Amino acid sequence: MKIAFIGLGAMGFPMARHLSKHHHLTVWNRTRSKAERHASEHGTTVASELAECAAAEVIITMLPTSREVDEIVDKLMPDLRAGTLWIDATSGDPNVSRLTAKRLADRGVAFVDAPVTGAVVGAENATLTIMIGGAPEDFERAREILRLNGKTLIHVGPVGSGHAIKVLTNSIMGATVWMTAECLLLAKQLGIDIKTALAVTNAGSGRSNASENLLPMRLVDGKWPLVFKLAHHDKDIRIAASLAHQQHASTPMLALTQQLFTAALHELGDQADYIEVAKIVARMNGASW
Ligand code: NDP
Repeated sequence: MKIAFIGLGAMGFPMARHLSKHHHLTVWNRTRSKAERHASEHGTTVASELAECAAAEVIITMLPTSREVDEIVDKLMPDLRAGTLWIDATSGDPNVSRLTAKRLADRGVAFVDAPVTGAVVGAENATLTIMIGGAPEDFERAREILRLNGKTLIHVGPVGSGHAIKVLTNSIMGATVWMTAECLLLAKQLGIDIKTALAVTNAGSGRSNASENLLPMRLVDGKWPLVFKLAHHDKDIRIAASLAHQQHASTPMLALTQQLFTAALHELGDQADYIEVAKIVARMNGASW
């Protein structure tokens, strides 16, 4: 199948690699050198210009936000062909994706939102969980392709529902990271060794991905890699908070999590990793890890 993959960032680069083993892949990236590296390493074809992507049967976008996706939709719109499937793997905004889907439908192009979870390691190993919003028949078409990237593919509901559940689940993760960091710092200040605090937490009811994987690497091993930009995580939590607002929902924990993450982003800058919020937790207490 002819697939165009747009956005070869931390996630898109390895995802496109897996697809290229089974399909004819055209790649496009804003910074062209990344697309050229992809082509030389994985035998994909670099689109000479963005418009060339419109010739594909399936177009996949993996971009920071729905805004960049919409910019690409605008640019490709004149060249799009009826029958094309557009898979947006970006963690986007469900309100925007519903409008995008409608615009594309007017051209006979089907749209599914298909954000992913599982981090860069999941993209590298093709073990992502992928949550898909769209019509059942479009989900089936998308599943045939995305099964090469993930081991769990879930049809969540109509267009927008993949994006909605993605930002909600990332908000749960954000609150958990923050709370776990607070309690581990407090344990340390009470004279309890961090490794011991983690051992107890992970053997008990406070256990989470944050306590088992995300925080030990940083707090015990002292490794602070950039794997998921805090700017992206903050964007997800802000979308979740805006959905709550739209629903007139009472979500004080979500509102607080959004406030904390946005403040941390201002403090740490847009190249910080999301787990660096633990540094802010320490700073707020005049401490360090
Ligand atoms: P990166 O920042 O690593 O990559 C972003 C990609 O978007 C790059 O290819 C970049 O191009 C491109 N891009 C940025 N701005 C524009 C623009 N204005 N026009 C065209 N292209 C643009 O992001 P990730 O790969 O980490 O994340 C992508 C999406 O996946 C986000 O929505 C994120 O929330 C989500 N996600 C990320 C995870 C992670 O662990 N990293 C996990 C799960 C979901 P260029 O190379 O030129 O900068």
